[in-house]
Order: sequence, then C-alpha cells, then structure tokens
Amino acid sequence: MNKIVIAIDGYSSCGKSTLAKSLARKLGYVFIDSGAMYRAVTLYAIRNSLINGGTPDKDAIIAATCNMQITFRFDPETEKNTTYLNGEDVEEEIRRLEVSEYVSPVSAIREVREAMVRLQQGMGAEKGIVMDGRDIGTVVFPDAELKIFMTADPEIRAQRRFLELQAKGLNINIEEVRKNISQRDFIDQNREESPLRKAADAIVLDNSHLTPQEQLDWAAGKAFEIIERL
Ligand code: C5P
Repeated sequence: MNKIVIAIDGYSSCGKSTLAKSLARKLGYVFIDSGAMYRAVTLYAIRNSLINGGTPDKDAIIAATCNMQITFRFDPETEKNTTYLNGEDVEEEIRRLEVSEYVSPVSAIREVREAMVRLQQGMGAEKGIVMDGRDIGTVVFPDAELKIFMTADPEIRAQRRFLELQAKGLNINIEEVRKNISQRDFIDQNREESPLRKAADAIVLDNSHLTPQEQLDWAAGKAFEIIERL
C-alpha cells in the first residue's frame, strides 16, 4: 500500500501527540514528536547554563547544536516513544515545566530550527510518518498528503495538561500551566522564524469535545480516503 506523510500542527496542549501516536499505530507508521526535539535542545541549554537570567544565549546554543544527538526509540511492548539526548533517556525530564518555560524562546532561534528541520525531513524521506509540531505542514513537509491543524478551548487544554503533569507526580498549580500555555502560543505565533500558522490546505480539527477515540476515527478516516485514492 502506498504510504503518505501526515503533518499535525496546532496550539500547545491540544493533544497533537496523542492523536499522532495513535494514528501512527493504526497505520503502522513512524511517529515523531518534533516538540520533543526542541525540548531536548532546551534541556541541553539549561543543563549547560546556556540560559542566563531567563534569556537563551543564542550564539552558545547555536554552537552547541552540533554536540547534541537527538534520537527516538519506540518500545513495541509498552508502546512508549522515548526521547534520547546523547544516548540518555530524557523523556521525563523534557516534559517538566522548567523546560516548557524556555522551549519557545529556544525554538525561535533560526539556526536551531534549521538543524531540527533537516533532521525531521530526513526522518520522513521514506514517507509512512506522522509528525506533530508547529511548522510541519508549512515548513517541514509542505507537500504532506494530509495536514491537520488542531485547536481546542484554552481552558480545556490547561485542564488536560494539568492532569497529565499531576499524574506524573509533578507538583504544579493550574495557574502556572495556564500561563505557560498562553505564553508559548503567543511566542509560537509571533516569532519571525516559521511561526505557527495553519497551512492553507490543512483541515481544522477542534477536539474540545472529542474523546481520543473519536478524534482518531476522524483522522484515520481522512488518511484512508487519501491512501485509497493514491
Ligand atoms: O509540542 P510541544 O508542546 O511539546 O512543543 C514544545 C515547544 O516546542 C512548542 O511550544 C514550540 O515552541 C516548539 N516547537 C516548535 N516547532 C515544532 C514543535 C515544537 O517551535 N515543530
């Protein structure tokens, strides 16, 4: 069967990765969470004191990108996708609020984006991939056969993310989560480099009132329609 590229973009904490992961499983495709790559760069910057007084040291981070090897491993038994930074499992750590706080300014750096986009395009060269992020349908895979742009009510997004972080045992309050989501959305939409935009040919999915299964059925329906036409 012919394989396609599926690009899923949208606002923070809309459940893009949840949809991308389940869709990839259903189709037998590779799933790539491009946000995890920007989070890994940010973690590296935090650990190596490349963020000073809340401001990323742009030149130092650009220089350091060649020392970062970011890879993913999928465990078919647990069905978990794990992010590795220079061979270390950083999956848990990159989800922390401290990383979320700095990831948008770090990912606004043009040279960081260029390095990540090159890697992402390489991962999708053979097609059969579902990638989620902010610029996948506009910059990384402008020719993707299926583009989905996700959105959801901001309060529902904050609640979902809060519960997710709480379930991981993190001690946070919902106000911090709300603030982080709206700050990231603002930076992501207003940065100069590849801002978050809906691609002209993307289909909008508002999942405020959809269950994960309902959104999967909807997206899988779209994907199969396209695959059958190929
Ligand atoms: O998807 P996630 O929320 O984990 O992404 C973290 C951050 O990484 C986003 O807020 C955004 O600033 C950045 N990002 C990006 N481009 C992507 C994916 C994520 O700029 N393709």
